[in-house]
Amino acid sequence: MPNPRIAITSGDPAGIGPEIAAAAALDSRVLAVCEPMVYGVADGRRFTPGVLSAEAGRAAYDTIVRAVEDAQNGRVNAIATAPVNKEAFHLADLPWAGHTDLLKHLTGARDVAMMFYAEALRVVLATVHIALADVPRVLTQASLESTIGLTAGALPHFGFASPRIAVAGLNPHAGEHGLFGREEETAIAPAIAACRDRGIDVRGPYPGDTVFVRARRGEFDVVIACYHDQGLIPVKLLAFGEAVNVTLGDTIVRAVEDAQNGRVNAIATAPVNKEAFHLADLPWAGHTDLLKHLTGARDVAMMFYAEALRVVLATVHIALADVPRVLTQASLESTIGLTAGALPHFGFASPRIAVAGLNPHAGEHGLFGREEETAIAPAIAACRDRGIDVRGPYPGDTVFVRARRGEFDVVIACYHDQGLIPVKLLAFGEAVNVTLGLPIVRTSVDHGTAFDIAGRGVANPESMIAAVLLAARLAKSRSA
Ligand SMILES: [Zn+2]
Ligand SMILES: [Zn+2]
Repeated sequence: MPNPRIAITSGDPAGIGPEIAAAAALDSRVLAVCEPMVYGVADGRRFTPGVLSAEAGRAAYDTIVRAVEDAQNGRVNAIATAPVNKEAFHLADLPWAGHTDLLKHLTGARDVAMMFYAEALRVVLATVHIALADVPRVLTQASLESTIGLTAGALPHFGFASPRIAVAGLNPHAGEHGLFGREEETAIAPAIAACRDRGIDVRGPYPGDTVFVRARRGEFDVVIACYHDQGLIPVKLLAFGEAVNVTLGDTIVRAVEDAQNGRVNAIATAPVNKEAFHLADLPWAGHTDLLKHLTGARDVAMMFYAEALRVVLATVHIALADVPRVLTQASLESTIGLTAGALPHFGFASPRIAVAGLNPHAGEHGLFGREEETAIAPAIAACRDRGIDVRGPYPGDTVFVRARRGEFDVVIACYHDQGLIPVKLLAFGEAVNVTLGLPIVRTSVDHGTAFDIAGRGVANPESMIAAVLLAARLAKSRSA
C-alpha cells in the first residue's frame, strides 16, 4: 500500500494552527510515512493572529467540513486537526463545543469518544466539555458502556490486541463504598459488569487519584476517566506536548496534536480507615475533620507537600456532585488565606498561589459552567485586595504543569481528584499530607490503610518517614 494521504486541518486561522499544520506537513518524519495535505482558509483571507472572531471560527469550521467530505469519499485516508477556538465557534453560532462534537455531527456517528494517546499513558474521557456540575447526571451506565465498547474496539489498532481497561471512579476514593457519592454503585460498576459479560477486560471503578499511577506502572493499557480534568491532568503531566488526541468512533479516524495542548510539638499520623470509622459510628470522614473537631479550629485545609509539587484541596471527601455547591466564594477565601499563612513555614516567604478552575478550561468564559465567574474569581480578587499573591482561575489540566515548572509555589485544587492525581503522579509515596489551620502541627502520609497488603511486611514507609521529618521542621519553624 502506498503511504496514506492525511488531511491536516489548520484550525482557527487566528491561532497557531496554520503554523503547526504547515510545519507538520514539511516535517521529514511525517513525509516518510504519509502524504500530508494541508486544509486551510479556502479563499486566502488573512486573519490577525490572536484576535478572536466569528469569521475565523466559521473559516475553521469550513475547513473541517471539507476535510471530512474528502475523508468520507476516499480522497484522504485520515484527518489530523490543528486546534479550533471554542469561543470563535460560539461567536459564529456554531453549536459544537469542539472537534469531537462536530465530527460526530458531520459523520453521523452514533457514539464517539475522545482518547489521549501517549507512550507514557493512554486515557479516554467518558465526558468532555460540560460543566463539572453536569457530569454526575450525564455519566450514565449506558454512556459509559458505549465509551468502554469504543475503547475496547479501538485499542487493537494501537497495538494492544487484548487491552486491559481500567475505569476511574467519579468520587473521591471511588465513593468509598457509598460514603462520598453513589454513582460508582448506580452507574459505573453496572457498566463495567455489563461489558465484562461481553468479554471485555475492563476493571474498576478504581480511585481516580491512584489509577493513573497504576496504569503508568503497566498494570493497565488505558484508563477511562469520568471527566475532563480527571483525565487530562495526568496526560499533560506525563506527556505534555507529546500526547495525541484521537477520536474513537466507527466511521472516522482523527488525530490531533495536543498543542494546548505540650509533650509533643507535632503529630504525624498513620492512615485510618474511613469505613472503620463509619462502622464505629464516628462521624468524621478522616483525620482532618476529626482534628478540626478535637482542636476547635474554625477552618482547616488539607495540603499535600512534596518537593515536586504542593497542592491544597478546597474540598476533600464529598461526592463530586456536591462540589459545585460546597465550593463557595467564602470557603475558597478561607482556603486561600490558610494557604498564604502557612506557606512561609515551608520556606516560601512570599508564596505565589495559583487556583485551578472547577470546570474544563476553567469554564472557558462561561461556556462550560459559571462557578469560575460566580465564586472563584471573586474569591481571588478579594484575597488579592488583602495583599495575597494569588492568581487564576487557571485551567485544571495545565495549572499543575505550570506549577511543576516553577511558575507557582502552590496550587489550590477545587476537589479531591483534581489535586491528588498530580500529587500522586509526581510524588507517589513522597508527598506529605499537612493540615492547615490547626493550632497544632499535623502531618500524615499520602496513602490509605492498604488492607490488601497489611500484615505482610511489604509496605513502603517512605511517606511516613517524610511526614515525620516535615513535622519536625514545621514544629521548629513555629517555635522559632
Ligand atoms: Zn482521600
Ligand atoms: Zn478540553
